Amino acid sequence: VIDINALPLEDIERLGDDRLRIGALVTNADLARHPAVREDYPLLARAILAGASTQVRNMATTAGNIMQRTRCPYFRDVAAACNKRQPGSGCDAIGGINRMHAVLGGSEACVAVHPSDMCVALAAIGTTLTLHGPQGEREIDFADFHRLPGTTPHLEHMLGDDELIVAITLDPPLRPLGTAYLKLRDRASYEFALASAGAMLSLDDGMIGEARLALGGVATRPWRCHEAEALLVGRRADEAAFTQAADAALAEAQPLSHNAFKVVLARQAIVRALRDAREGHP
Ligand code: SF4
Repeated sequence: VIDINALPLEDIERLGDDRLRIGALVTNADLARHPAVREDYPLLARAILAGASTQVRNMATTAGNIMQRTRCPYFRDVAAACNKRQPGSGCDAIGGINRMHAVLGGSEACVAVHPSDMCVALAAIGTTLTLHGPQGEREIDFADFHRLPGTTPHLEHMLGDDELIVAITLDPPLRPLGTAYLKLRDRASYEFALASAGAMLSLDDGMIGEARLALGGVATRPWRCHEAEALLVGRRADEAAFTQAADAALAEAQPLSHNAFKVVLARQAIVRALRDAREGHP
């Protein structure tokens, strides 16, 4: 274990091209209350504040949140078969109690859910990660950072063993913007999502100019809904458009024996998040 807390990675700075660069060690609490985030990326602030507890957010860092592992009780039970813990051993979740597991992005090898709220917002906003290693710095699109489980669920991300995330950079903000983050869970706080939806809408006289949509709690990695976004752009921001977008976002869902309810829940979360984003539009 190497303590990296002394590294100078705690700055948040606006870049010349209107993007926002955030140091890897900025805490979740500081990020959520930073004026630039509250003003230009309210989805990020809301998603962070929906996660964990105040005490955890005071300690959790930007890069640490991105690097948190998928969640599955069988992974932590050394008596269970788990391809992620021991490649090739099987997956006891698929035929077991899988109420909390993924309906999107899973494979025959693993269906564990990515648990982050913050990462749902990063997926919707558009984010670039800066990694540092022996060869110097390189950048990677956040959308390419977390891996689908496929046949290698023990490989969760694209960070090399000798690399660090040193910063993330958010795409320029949409303006004007309506946003909403809706998190549905078994209890009101300090609980992971059963389904969550992050929505951003840019409207002009009731018509959708730009749309961003991402899901949490239902997929094996932070889940951007590009097909749903494409359906929304150019449409009137009404219930029909929102419902079609939700259907598109869940079209590829593959529920397991105990989690078909997540498809319904996510669909409703999308419609409500889009409605709230519309109502919150300036
Ligand atoms: Fe392991 Fe993934 Fe199966 Fe859970 S879902 S038991 S983490 S292989």
